[in-house]
Amino acid sequence: MRCLQEDCQIDSRSLVVSFALVINPDERITMLKSLIAGSLLLTGVAQAQQDFSSVTIRSEQVAEGIYMLQGSGGNIGLSFGEDGAFLIDDQYAPLSDKIMAAVKELTDGEIRFVINTHWHGDHTGGNENFGNSGAVIVAHDNVHQRMSTDQVMAFFGREVPAAPDAALPVLTFNDRVTLRLNGDDVSAIHTPHAHTDGDAIIHFSKANVLHMGDVFFNIGYPFIDVDSGGGIHGLIDAVNKGLMLANDTTKVIPGHGPLTDRAGLIAYRDLLVTLRDSVLALKAQGKSLEETIAIKPTAALDEKNGQAFIKADQIVTFIFNSPEQMADKPRSH
Ligand SMILES: [Zn+2]
Repeated sequence: MRCLQEDCQIDSRSLVVSFALVINPDERITMLKSLIAGSLLLTGVAQAQQDFSSVTIRSEQVAEGIYMLQGSGGNIGLSFGEDGAFLIDDQYAPLSDKIMAAVKELTDGEIRFVINTHWHGDHTGGNENFGNSGAVIVAHDNVHQRMSTDQVMAFFGREVPAAPDAALPVLTFNDRVTLRLNGDDVSAIHTPHAHTDGDAIIHFSKANVLHMGDVFFNIGYPFIDVDSGGGIHGLIDAVNKGLMLANDTTKVIPGHGPLTDRAGLIAYRDLLVTLRDSVLALKAQGKSLEETIAIKPTAALDEKNGQAFIKADQIVTFIFNSPEQMADKPRSH
């Protein structure tokens, strides 16, 4: 997702709401349609014009030869050692040179692979640049499927055109794939129908590091991309999968937010379970989405968790609209 470009979205939505209040009902639908179309355009322009010149890439050591890089977009994982270097996710295209420079400060090793945790542009935007520099892009099959075709993120009223061929993953997997590099076994493990339908969590089995991608938002309520096959049940299953791989000394890199550990992941799982139960209890009573939002079932949690990217009404909507529990629950490994 272009997860953290929410400012222009909120502006666009505010526009729609305020215009809807001042015009009469007969004109409202036509007006809304044109406004939504305009919002799409404005959002596209805002994205194209986002200024990355002030973004700096910060590197934080996670383990020997493993770093977390933060700039704008999803957290990047970096591994380097005797076999070269590889990245987990690559943020936005305009940041590729800065990311390459940050890597160069830590290692002279060639970036041989980029593993994408999912298809959203704040995690895959650099694919074309890194691919052209010689990296092999690795991702779940559904990442390739979504990136190679036009996508609509209806929740944000946003169209995402197909990525150029050079940005697409060239090595894709269904269940899991393991890179035997830099003295470690690094597995990308698919977690079905979680943040999207193409998520992978990345496990360094020897270094005891997990990169959770956007299955784990360590900044309050998560974005669940129901339009891309995500859902609350798969999200909780995915976090539980991460917990099965972790112990008390595991370092956990979230998709967004600060580096944390198993306890942080447990707290997030417990938050998700509470949210799920409170929203779906109302749905089971026959309440509509609008009625469920009006009841504010997450009110006690909103001050702590609903102030960053995703707000209370939005997390309620994601959970309410999530598909039923899927049959293909992740297997233990
Ligand atoms: Zn995402």
